[in-house]
Amino acid sequence: MQQKEQAEILKAKGVEPCLAVVIVGENPASKVYVAGKIRDCEEVGITSREYALPASTTQDELLALVSELNNDDSVSGFIVQLPLPSHIDEKTILDAIDPKKDVDAFHPINVGKIMIGDYDFLPCTPAGVMELLEEYKIDISGKECVVVGRSNIVGKPQAMLLLHKNGTVTVCHSRTKNLSDVTRRADILVVAIGKGEFVTGDMIKEGAVVIDVGMNRNDEGKLVGDVHFESAKEKASYITPVPGGVGVMTRAILMKNAIKAAQLNQDK
Ligand code: NDP
Repeated sequence: MQQKEQAEILKAKGVEPCLAVVIVGENPASKVYVAGKIRDCEEVGITSREYALPASTTQDELLALVSELNNDDSVSGFIVQLPLPSHIDEKTILDAIDPKKDVDAFHPINVGKIMIGDYDFLPCTPAGVMELLEEYKIDISGKECVVVGRSNIVGKPQAMLLLHKNGTVTVCHSRTKNLSDVTRRADILVVAIGKGEFVTGDMIKEGAVVIDVGMNRNDEGKLVGDVHFESAKEKASYITPVPGGVGVMTRAILMKNAIKAAQLNQDK
């Protein structure tokens, strides 16, 4: 069922899904992402609240807002947009979010639940990748899946989700030796490293499914992925574009999580 319909069903039951978005400072990319999230809420019929705090906000002030949102029954879920200014410890903030309102799924409880395959929320980007694979009926079971990148928000959960679907998963990172030997083994290659057009066609097996998570600005200011699209598309059977690929799915999953949070908080 589409999120719009789910939002309507909840509202008919007297539950008003509400997503709060907290942004600290003036990071231009973060501002664009937050504006997109607010727009998505409008489209789906989720109430949104934006808290734009100055870069000078202290950690204690931000913690106080997190606590307020945790205890506000009219807020079903919220996110604190990353990155935070360097004087604020991200982990301290993420750990303070009520796991039942943690629609980014960054809280250690939610991360642990993903590990055992028993979760309320999945992190938006890896879950978006899984939905894309499902949508295109790409069988994962028994396939060589290579994830390049091991961040807590993309690479690691991505590997776990592919493993849950019975992929044979290899995770690569900056210390991986002979990276292209590993990527060339992949039936399904997910790249999330933050290096523009780093993975080229010669690093890809003929017929592989290539998922490009990266979002980078090149020297001309153009948005590019971590994969060199032109050379990679000659080898891949499927390949996601940047923009218009994984980013779209990431946004859709956030809306899904916001609806889920409203359902969870209705039941508590
Ligand atoms: P991080 O910087 O947190 O992690 C990058 C990972 O890539 C690290 O694990 C790092 O290894 C690895 N890496 C870096 N260089 C290399 C290399 N040369 N060879 C192999 N591995 C390498 O990035 P994120 O995971 O947060 O994001 C990755 C990309 O995805 C970025 O472009 C980001 O903008 C984009 N992104 C897109 C989203 C979307 O919605 N489409 C959402 C989130 C991110 P090590 O651990 O050893 O340092």
